[in-house]
Amino acid sequence: MKIFTRCTLLIVMILLLCTQAGIAQDIKRSDKPNVILILTDDQGYMDVGFNGCKDIPTPNIDRIANGGVRFTNGYVTYSVCGPSRAGIMTGRYQDRFGFGRNPLLAPNDTAMGLPSTEETLATVLKRSDYTSLALGKWHLGAHKSQYPLKRGFDEFFGFLSGGHQYFPEQWTLRDLSEVRKQFDGYRTRLMKDNGRVDEKEYLTDALSREAVSFIEKEADNPFFIYLAYNAPHGPLQATEKYLSRFKHIEDKKRRTYAAMVSSVDDGVGLVLDKLEELEIDDNTIVFFLSDNGGPEKHNASDNGPLRDGKSSLYEGGIHVPFAMQWPGRIPAGQVFENPVISLDIFATAVEYAGATPKNNLDGVNLVPYLTGENSGKPHQQLFWRKYDGGDYAMRGGDHKLVKYQSDVDEVYNLKKDISEEKVLKLNDRNHYAEMKSAYQKWESELMDPVFLGLMQDKQYTKENPNRYKVISEYKVDNLEPKVPEGYKLLWSDEFNTVGKPNPEYWSYENGFVRNHELQWYQSDNANIKEGALVIEGRREQVKNTNYKKDSKNWRHNWEFAEYTSSCIKTKDKFSFQYGIMEVRARIDTSMGMWPAIWTLGVENRWPSNGEVDQLEYYRFEGEAKILANACWAGENMKPVWDSEKIPFKNFIAKEHDWVDKFHVWKMDWTKDYIRLYLDDVLLNEIDLSKTINADGTNPFHQPQYILLNLALGSNGGDPTNTTFPRKYEVDYVRVYQKK
Ligand code: CA
Repeated sequence: MKIFTRCTLLIVMILLLCTQAGIAQDIKRSDKPNVILILTDDQGYMDVGFNGCKDIPTPNIDRIANGGVRFTNGYVTYSVCGPSRAGIMTGRYQDRFGFGRNPLLAPNDTAMGLPSTEETLATVLKRSDYTSLALGKWHLGAHKSQYPLKRGFDEFFGFLSGGHQYFPEQWTLRDLSEVRKQFDGYRTRLMKDNGRVDEKEYLTDALSREAVSFIEKEADNPFFIYLAYNAPHGPLQATEKYLSRFKHIEDKKRRTYAAMVSSVDDGVGLVLDKLEELEIDDNTIVFFLSDNGGPEKHNASDNGPLRDGKSSLYEGGIHVPFAMQWPGRIPAGQVFENPVISLDIFATAVEYAGATPKNNLDGVNLVPYLTGENSGKPHQQLFWRKYDGGDYAMRGGDHKLVKYQSDVDEVYNLKKDISEEKVLKLNDRNHYAEMKSAYQKWESELMDPVFLGLMQDKQYTKENPNRYKVISEYKVDNLEPKVPEGYKLLWSDEFNTVGKPNPEYWSYENGFVRNHELQWYQSDNANIKEGALVIEGRREQVKNTNYKKDSKNWRHNWEFAEYTSSCIKTKDKFSFQYGIMEVRARIDTSMGMWPAIWTLGVENRWPSNGEVDQLEYYRFEGEAKILANACWAGENMKPVWDSEKIPFKNFIAKEHDWVDKFHVWKMDWTKDYIRLYLDDVLLNEIDLSKTINADGTNPFHQPQYILLNLALGSNGGDPTNTTFPRKYEVDYVRVYQKK
């Protein structure tokens, strides 16, 4: 009886669990497929098992081809990295938007990268609620405005340059501010989102690890992973773990290359295993391809029968290993021989995501061709152009028209002659005229390159002598003020002297001043050191010189202050009305700190004089916030606030080393509005038609003076358990006005 009951209970429980799981799955499991795009770099056509590679086993990459489809005529849109990636990432021929060159590392140049007219796959998928991760090589722009998180991705782990060293001990540059020449970009620390990290693993392994952990985290939501391994692009570097697998390969270059491909293959295995373990493999489209053909001499890759390699417009440059799986949708084990191109990845992904791109796409959804719904060919014609050499190619059916490093057109029949050995006569039987005019029509739709490329490295540096002059986010800025167009520099303090702040500009507040703050303000805590004003918060007892035991006023009846700090201000020394005020500072966010950058009107009493807080950092309802406010006087001099309180966690979510960096706070003040920015992001806009004091005056139509201070306690929280001293650093204060 007992046993029976137990069994029954168990069965009932199992049934219940199944039902619950079923329901949960129906709610959680979206119909939108996940998309994983695995891109290798400079891998040869023959260097995957599914294309017949003999000396480098790639069992995991082969799982994709075997579980779905192997494309025997898979192309990319360009024969080197950058433009090929621009095509993949936008689903459009990159020459349509001037990306006809391999971009240089130019962290000051907004135009060196994807133009703002272009949407990435991540941008489009975001509109359909996808969460996206970019991993590895970016190479689509190194200016801040081109960072992956500015181009649709939610997360990033990798590097911005066109390649990278593989071993952590070689990542000796803190960030791009330490780069002095193009290939220094290979030695920077890795980025995580918008910050930098100290990674310890071999690069390829680190990228695989991040892919797997993202899948675990996002398994219940539609996601997109752009897994852009830089392996097996040079420099050839592999760990013993992978090298030891290839002792039988005598050529050292080929051995290292093989080891690098093998490390990618292991990573692909981890990704596929994770999808299966979480039972989301059926609903995940996985693409695998190389960004261009192998540069056989450089990295010992092998393009097999294909002519030439990387950078060429013969097949070896643009015809790549290419496979795809979507177990829930497309039958396994297919070999697809009609030409497809990397542009099709975008078109396929957005189709099933139900997302609509803004721009016209050049690719097509491949799935109907793989399910048998459509028995035609995905593409009648494919095109390539290399602007600088005046080179081009075009594939129509079995024939290919190509002009590469020569003055004459050549036509080949790729079906019979994949090695492009036998030039055919240029005639109508092989569609020469038709192909040529199709090419000319396509070319007429293209733009000239909008930036200089890797081949113009020297020219670019000559034309842009400040190419690498990037302000380190971790250091003070020693560059001249960058005056906004139409403005002039009205006043500034760069804090570049040594000692005390300039007495012609600044005076000090003294003692207990406001808000029941714990610190005693004194001049001693404000000093200029190494190019910045440092306001030090100290734990030290100071006797209140105004102490009156029986006073009702806290400023008098607190006998001691347990802390000291400084507040400096330009009152009676400098004030301004309208213009842009810019302050670069590094704040201390420890418990108890309340750093501020603010201004007050010169006439009348607070708050009718008007207060603007470009920065306040303090705890509001227990949570650390960054605030951007203005305040004026209501009835009975009660303050009226226009306040934005942004959770501080929002800032560190995407920039984990935010507190290690200097940031720029900016006030843009006209007679109509005050706009408050942090690192060029608008935090609050105050409409000055609404900032009317109860007496009818508008406080923001009079000059304001500047205050910089580090308060302790009060809104800042209890500093009892915080170690001291603390410091708040101000790199500069600059005020610009319209010319
Ligand atoms: Ca490449």
